[in-house]
Amino acid sequence: ERVYRVSARAIGEGGRRFVLHFRDQSEARRIDRMRADFIANASHELRTPLASISGFIETLRGPARDDPKAQEQFLQIMHGQTRRMARLIDDLLTLSRIEAKPVGKPTEPVDLRPLVAGVCDTLRQVADEAGVNIEIEFPDGPFEVAGFRDELVQVFENLVSNACKYGRDGKRVVVQAKVEAGGEKSVTVTDFGPGIAEEHLPRLTERFYRADSGTGPSQQGTGLGLAIVKHILNRHGARLIIRSRPGEGSSFTVHFPAPEF
Ligand code: ADP
Repeated sequence: ERVYRVSARAIGEGGRRFVLHFRDQSEARRIDRMRADFIANASHELRTPLASISGFIETLRGPARDDPKAQEQFLQIMHGQTRRMARLIDDLLTLSRIEAKPVGKPTEPVDLRPLVAGVCDTLRQVADEAGVNIEIEFPDGPFEVAGFRDELVQVFENLVSNACKYGRDGKRVVVQAKVEAGGEKSVTVTDFGPGIAEEHLPRLTERFYRADSGTGPSQQGTGLGLAIVKHILNRHGARLIIRSRPGEGSSFTVHFPAPEF
């Protein structure tokens, strides 16, 4: 469905001839709608933990007033919910920071070998808690792409932490880098967890989309991680390819164009 704004202007003498302007408004409408959806979703996501906290406060003041064990349990849940809200706000700020940046392509060489090793170090605790061992396989020598360092750290943090969280049953996560034909470079994060049903794959990078409707490990998540990844990769002219076999695991491959330096 296309939407046009039409305006008319009289030309020549006597007002008998007109020029009609058709301006295509479809894109502007689509962006307005996306923005409204985004605000509605973000508000809903923030409201849910808030409603739960508020409910527990009522319980603590009433029925649980004299029950220290229940009090401790409810405080712990409330603490979890506040952390969830904090994560959500962090992710929302990251998204808006990335969107506000000018769109220029990156030209700085970034060596992904130490970058990925650093990310996996920071995620050691996440991996340990999930009982997952992270294996890193890079070809010899530096592995450079044109990139914005901080943004690439964010990409691999999101992919590797998802692999640990969702792939915990698989016990292993493999991060493998390869030089492809034509000088393209790829980095694949593979887990051996439950995988993702095919119908979800095309929608995973949408904001707030969760494959398991917020049950299981994604309860802790924000549904924004892969949206941030996609956004950053677009700025790098890089692509994300998601493959998964339910019951066997998933792989997330980032393809970087051949660097121009
Ligand atoms: P979240 O904050 O919920 O983790 P993401 O945008 O990072 O948000 O991921 C979106 C959804 O994709 C998750 O809720 C989960 O259902 C699914 N997902 C992401 N990575 C994996 C994976 N490695 N294995 C299985 N499911 C995954």
